[in-house]
Amino acid sequence: MLMSSTQPLAALENATEFVARHIGIAPEDEAHMLGAIGAASRDALIDAIVPPSIRRHQPMALPPAATEAQALAELKALAGRNQLLKSFIGQGYYGTHTPGVILRNILENPAWYTAYTPYQAEISQGRMEALVNFQTMVCDLTGMPIANASMLDEATAAAEAMTLAKRSVKSKSNRFVVAGDAHPQTIEVIQTRAAPLGIEVLLANSLEEWNQLMEGDYFAVLAQYPATSGRIDDLRADVDKAHAKQAAFIVATDLLALTLITPPGEWGADIVVGTTQRFGMPMGAGGPHAAFMACRDEFKRSLPGRLVGVSVDVHGKPAYRLALQTREQHIRREKATSNICTAQVLPAVVASMYAVYHGPEGLERIARRVASYTAILARGLAELGAPLREVPSFDTLSLHTAAATQAIVERAVSLGANLRVYFKEYLCISLDETTTRADVELLWKIFARDGQALPSFAAFEKGVEPLIPDGLRRSSDFLTHPVFNTHRSETAMLRYIRQLSDKDLALDRSMIPLGSCTMKLNATSEMIPITWPEFAQVHPFAPADQQQGYAELDKQLRDWLCQATGYAGISLQPNAGSQGEYAGLLAIKGWHASRGQSHRNVCLIPSSAHGTNPASAQMVGMQVVVTACDANGNVDMADLAAKCEQHSANLACIMITYPSTHGVFETQVKELCKLVHDHGGRVYVDGANMNALVGLAAPGSFGGDVSHLNLHKTFCIPHGGGGPGVGPVCVVEDLVPFLPGHATAGLAGGTGAISAAPLGNAAVLPISWMYIRMMGAQGLTLATETAILSANYISARLRDHYPTLYAGEHGHVAHECILDLRQFKESTGVMAEDVAKRLIDYGFHAPTLSFPVPNTLMVEPTESESLYELDRFVDAMIAIREEIRAIEQGRLPQDDNPLKNAPHTAETLLASEWAHPYSREAAAYPVAALRQSKYWCPVGRVDNVYGDRNLYCSCIPVDAYLS
Ligand SMILES: *Cc1c(COP(=O)(O)O)cnc(C)c1O
Repeated sequence: MLMSSTQPLAALENATEFVARHIGIAPEDEAHMLGAIGAASRDALIDAIVPPSIRRHQPMALPPAATEAQALAELKALAGRNQLLKSFIGQGYYGTHTPGVILRNILENPAWYTAYTPYQAEISQGRMEALVNFQTMVCDLTGMPIANASMLDEATAAAEAMTLAKRSVKSKSNRFVVAGDAHPQTIEVIQTRAAPLGIEVLLANSLEEWNQLMEGDYFAVLAQYPATSGRIDDLRADVDKAHAKQAAFIVATDLLALTLITPPGEWGADIVVGTTQRFGMPMGAGGPHAAFMACRDEFKRSLPGRLVGVSVDVHGKPAYRLALQTREQHIRREKATSNICTAQVLPAVVASMYAVYHGPEGLERIARRVASYTAILARGLAELGAPLREVPSFDTLSLHTAAATQAIVERAVSLGANLRVYFKEYLCISLDETTTRADVELLWKIFARDGQALPSFAAFEKGVEPLIPDGLRRSSDFLTHPVFNTHRSETAMLRYIRQLSDKDLALDRSMIPLGSCTMKLNATSEMIPITWPEFAQVHPFAPADQQQGYAELDKQLRDWLCQATGYAGISLQPNAGSQGEYAGLLAIKGWHASRGQSHRNVCLIPSSAHGTNPASAQMVGMQVVVTACDANGNVDMADLAAKCEQHSANLACIMITYPSTHGVFETQVKELCKLVHDHGGRVYVDGANMNALVGLAAPGSFGGDVSHLNLHKTFCIPHGGGGPGVGPVCVVEDLVPFLPGHATAGLAGGTGAISAAPLGNAAVLPISWMYIRMMGAQGLTLATETAILSANYISARLRDHYPTLYAGEHGHVAHECILDLRQFKESTGVMAEDVAKRLIDYGFHAPTLSFPVPNTLMVEPTESESLYELDRFVDAMIAIREEIRAIEQGRLPQDDNPLKNAPHTAETLLASEWAHPYSREAAAYPVAALRQSKYWCPVGRVDNVYGDRNLYCSCIPVDAYLS
């Protein structure tokens, strides 16, 4: 017998089973760790770190922890409250078949979904190749020279296109013309984004209005092609009109349609945006999906979002890396043009793989089938006498159903189908890859009058032609690169996917100790529900009564997050932290305006802030005033008081991060909040560091007015190689009326929509729900305490090797620590970057490099890592310190040592020549354990400068591999 028979039943039921799975530190390791830190107990440690003035007195009121099985069963029941009707709604969201090989080996594969944003190029070559495929796919299909990877959704991409145009064109106008036949959610987000920037949006609700507006004054126009109602217009003459006014022509489009219709790049478009959802990503009630933006060559240096480029490594081999502008907010801050940080990498990878797997012929076949079914549907509807508007179209038909509209919609629902109501009197029907012959017949049935004979599919089948006019048919090739023409069999595809993921270092191989990013466990049971059809197959604009499962998920998750944060209201609409910041600042702006204080537009931001903060402030039209930090890294209260005084009349808010980006619980945070409040401003607390607070302190209770959370940091949504994320915006009571609404989806709200879909990246919300449900209040609090314990353990163990730059009153850090490497530059030439690259040879992903302090590493271990893994990391860092010492003592030259030459590739190690003053063994196996398990980096150090000078962002030409 292993267990005593006196064990109570409750212990056998093991309700907190998951807590021990999530937290990597075993109870028996704690004493050892506390000993290294010099703390008497975990409680004593936490008491010494978290200022008493902000400690919460009430535990979070959450349901008690459930086991994995219980939580899954409960969520399954909740999911079952969503109804799955066949969707013909379209409007930017379509049924799609995710190829099984992609579903299992990418979307459900931790090698892909637990990776981080590819800032460390050398360990991210696999996902960057997939992203370059994405960019090439978008360029080819749109006919544009350059595309990024990727945007958050089609609507925000359109809004970003508007601002890209504003800063790029010669026209000095501030008017923006939008075709009324664009997706309504796109129009809504554009209106939200335009207002604080003083851009006047002119909506053309008819052809006459469009023609009239095109003759007027504007800096750019946007048209949807094909339009939201399905029609395909020839826009060539309009492009010329816009160009004659030095204005830009922006096109929102559909990649599948572009396999058959002339791409906008061939008729003069300047910027092209859209979503790649129907390339294999389920609708998921609105997200996550990767949107795209492509533009003409002249605009490429100000293209927002993530752009992967081809550069070379030190050995002259082609290698991928992120182009300079990806870090734009960090470099340009309040002068940045966009705040996008976390985007939609995993969905972008899925979309690119969909194109790789199907290839040009496969995509065209899918598109032809959709277009042919649409043509057949149209003929049948005409035969039935339905009020069809006969216009060129690809996949969407519209009908002027007038007074009968509602009755037809109800009849459709009773037959299991959702149609789209458009301007009350019209119906739209969109087909997609999943549409069957039976679906077409079902649609006929909906429109047939009683007793009317149904048309025969077979009768229309012969010689059917898409409803695309000759003049708009595509004649150019696309996806000609071998990558889109090689992996046709499932075996080949499986191996290509595996080959790419093998190049990358994700959480499935080692800890990723990235400060500020909280790379914790993304548990399998949290991930399982996201591909359940009850969540995945829901259209975001399906009737509310069919989305009760999502509504309940939304409500419960918001309630729980309110408990964790102390706020009164939350919106889950923002689909990244940056978008939460934007929504939060809009709320503050709206509140001031509601009190006749619109002139309050000064936003104070400490110099140590994350780059998204000033970038977001700029986007809502606020003026950023930077405040200083003192020698201890804390907000300089004297400087802050002076700035508050100086800007008192115009103070809108302050944006702080808590605990600070320096990894410290500042003790004066309550006074700070009071000071700003006394001057009439509000306090925005960036919640990226919430992993140090959950259960211990709540920003909504200690003085914060608004926060965003990063569910992809604190609440277990995986980073996906750079997204998806969810950035809920949380506010105190009086700001609740200023949370984002979504008129398109029928949700009222003080500020307009900030995302295309009302629940943003809805389909990944089950991950955070599962986490909270399985951890319970005690488990979550233990996670926070353990994260703090582990960070302090690392800081303490490395004390004599790399000093921690900032610490709190008692010499402790919060949940992360900044290791100071600045002293090595002078004596050895070693930079933090060299240590980051050398860590790759030891099998680790680098900590956060040079943020928030140049030439430092910020380490955040999280609660999920085991003591074994923490020690492995510390031992690697100590071994690297010894390598630095060899340089200090002249045993190794400054320009030829294991740090400067890191990472070492197998190819260089196996070359017949080895001309370095240290051994191959020292390069590859600096610690013995690496002989058991070794990550081999596929490329040497990547040359960023070369890549930025020679910006090249498409698939590498085949002959480059041969040279
Ligand atoms: C990650 C982060 C953000 C931005 O969040 P995204 O989800 O990447 O947009 C903002 N502030 C801080 C401090 C962060 O660490």
